[in-house]
Amino acid sequence: MDVADLYHRAAAVVDLSCITHNLREVRRKAPGKKIIAMVKANAYGHGLIRVAEHLARQGVDYLGTAYVEEALALRQAGISTPIITSGPFSRFQVGLFIENRVDFTVASVEALNMIDEAAGFYGKTASVHLKIDTGMMRIGIRHSNADRLLAAAQAAKNCRVVSIYSHFAAADDEDVSFQRLQLERFLEAASYYDRHGLERPLLQIANSAAICRMADTHLDMVRPGIMLYGYHPSAQSSSEANLRPALSLRAKIMYFKVILQGNTVGYGRTWTAPENCRAVTLPIGYGDGYSRGLSNQGEVLIRGRRYPIVGTICMDQTVVCLGDGEAYNGEEAVLIGSQGNEKITADDIARRLGTISYEVLTAISHRVPRIYVDNGEG
Ligand SMILES: *Cc1c(COP(=O)(O)O)cnc(C)c1O
Repeated sequence: MDVADLYHRAAAVVDLSCITHNLREVRRKAPGKKIIAMVKANAYGHGLIRVAEHLARQGVDYLGTAYVEEALALRQAGISTPIITSGPFSRFQVGLFIENRVDFTVASVEALNMIDEAAGFYGKTASVHLKIDTGMMRIGIRHSNADRLLAAAQAAKNCRVVSIYSHFAAADDEDVSFQRLQLERFLEAASYYDRHGLERPLLQIANSAAICRMADTHLDMVRPGIMLYGYHPSAQSSSEANLRPALSLRAKIMYFKVILQGNTVGYGRTWTAPENCRAVTLPIGYGDGYSRGLSNQGEVLIRGRRYPIVGTICMDQTVVCLGDGEAYNGEEAVLIGSQGNEKITADDIARRLGTISYEVLTAISHRVPRIYVDNGEG
């Protein structure tokens, strides 16, 4: 069955075989390391449950979410793979973590004590990952104070420290000196266990950029995000791994017309036809996460040719000028992905918008159905 028969107006088509391939690249770069596959933010827009199920089947050690709500959705879908949440939580949610075997990120002694007490109440052991700030200045106990948290966690009766971790602030910079400093600070904090003759938990710090570029940061576990979905965190790492973008964004032409010379298109009348031209309307807009910033800027592929978006992008619709090109209602237009010999990547769109592929992908809204194929098979 053709994928175009599986949707009626617009869809994000996710090829799971690309994710399989990209995971293989993670394993090639970081052989033997445990893997936390990051699936936060709806698996970077690719669809939380189906992507997490696929990654779990491929044997990743952990799934990574930002919030416990995302983790609960995975548990409700029957996924039993360990889950680490990296973000904050309310004290009212602590029981949810414990009852659903979701691991905490702990960045303060206060949070640790709260978890320890709650775990005691449930008669269970909470699994925690201690977050150390080595320069990101987001969350985490400051590296120079880390002993305090590590000691408290050691003493907490109802908590098991699975790992300690940190996050790079500029892993995609050309100059790696700040990453070096962060790694040094992290290892110094982790030396607490050696200094006290204790068995040390797992150590982890590497995101996609560090997986690609800095083998000595791989430690015990790596946390790939964007590279699983087929994009490089920056141009610096593009020669380091061969990645395949998993998602294509498509819409079906809903309306064909001729615009006469001098007529304007859309809200605000921002585009005037310089001559008579053919145009088509696509049933996709900023309400689907296709940025309004692409008005009079973006391009789409139709019949393997590249055409410009004209006028402002509406909430539900976008107009494309075909010049003297041809297309019928119902034919597929590709907004992200390839068609014939042409290709538009999330990086191309990000460059136009002054952002990064991460934002372009996660912006694709829940209104757009996700369709899953494996090796192009529906
Ligand atoms: C999102 C995230 C990652 C993954 O980063 P990428 O650049 O997408 O590889 C890793 N670690 C943490 C804590 C994150 O929040």
